[in-house]
Amino acid sequence: WNVPNKPIILYIEGDGIGPEITNVAIKVINKAVEKAYGSSREIRWVKVYAGEEAERVYGNRFPEETINLITRYRVVLKGPLETPIGGGWRSINVAIRMLLDAYANVRPVKYMPGLESPLKHPERVDMVIIRENTDDLYRGIEWSWDSPEAAKLRKFLKEELKIELEDDTGIGIKPISKFKTQRVARFAFKFAIENKRRSVTIMHKGNIMKYTEGAFREWAYEVALKEFREYIVTEEEVNKLYGGKVPPGKILVNDRIADNMFQQIITRPENYDVILAPNLNGDYISDAAGALIGDIGVLGGANVGDTGGMFEAVHGTAPKYAGKNVANPTGIIRAGELMLRFMGWREAADLIDRAITEAINQKKVTQDLARYMGVQPLGTKEFGDALIEI
Ligand code: NAD
Repeated sequence: WNVPNKPIILYIEGDGIGPEITNVAIKVINKAVEKAYGSSREIRWVKVYAGEEAERVYGNRFPEETINLITRYRVVLKGPLETPIGGGWRSINVAIRMLLDAYANVRPVKYMPGLESPLKHPERVDMVIIRENTDDLYRGIEWSWDSPEAAKLRKFLKEELKIELEDDTGIGIKPISKFKTQRVARFAFKFAIENKRRSVTIMHKGNIMKYTEGAFREWAYEVALKEFREYIVTEEEVNKLYGGKVPPGKILVNDRIADNMFQQIITRPENYDVILAPNLNGDYISDAAGALIGDIGVLGGANVGDTGGMFEAVHGTAPKYAGKNVANPTGIIRAGELMLRFMGWREAADLIDRAITEAINQKKVTQDLARYMGVQPLGTKEFGDALIEI
């Protein structure tokens, strides 16, 4: 992205614990930027309304003014939004994603000492899942078994292609395009290079779904080999030419069948770094990878495109903790760290990473983690202050 030194960045406080954690995150991000760059860089935050607060102020959960500001400024830090009956946060999320043309979902998953992981050696977990966000079964092109459309499709399949489906079959379509695959693959390889990651693994079920998932694999390799040749090595080259070791400075590109990928991240997490996946597989593996570190409450994620993105915690609004100054703001602070990385402000992002790791090391944590650690918890604000002091 082309980011000025004093960019305007939007924030949505969100519902439930949202306002508390978002405001702590903004304080921590500001401090990191100041420590890293003095007064030469500064974020100018502008609040925009969505969710419950927008409903109160504008009578609309996703008002026109918010849409205009997002379209214009294109970078948003977002607190969690509650789902009203009928599915609100997904649709606001989808709306923001579409405004930003955010085609890549990015979820870093890194273990921090002190978390209760189900693994024996959780310190080996340090991955980034990059998931295609706009294609695949999630396009929602589907019809109920008893709809006229499904009946027509069944008839077409039978008459034209001699494929007979039972009359009670619902139908969904899985579109995977070359353009969308290559754009997210390009994004993943660039991310790996810029962030000095060790490997990119393409996850797919191409042995069964040849022309969708299999094509995803082919098209992603094509981008790696044509556009990033000088940065990458393939598994075959590593074995044939380099005695099984990735040469320094190179990024290994390989692929795994989706079911094997799940086993691999549990049994050999140290072998996986960036994982590039189509939409549906990517959704599943993101949460599974999150579970490996014991607590998805501390993870941040993003929906990113070529000109902006929306950054948020993985967790929801945790209504039972709202207004009590007890929620853990780590997820949204991690989202802020990721935002700084996409802005190219790496020094500030590294300060945040170090502060979080150090705070958890020193057992300065909020109640959700203090419970396991047997220590007195800090409040949401006090945890933020502890990060700022580190
Ligand atoms: P949740 O993530 O809010 O809560 C799950 C559990 O984790 C609860 O016990 C909660 O108290 C705890 N928890 C979550 N975040 C925490 C934090 N930061 N600190 C301490 N404890 C935390 O999930 P839910 O209960 O299924 O959903 C609540 C609401 O959030 C729903 O309306 C849901 O739709 C919405 N939601 C929004 C988003 C989003 O905006 N991206 C994501 C998920 C859920």
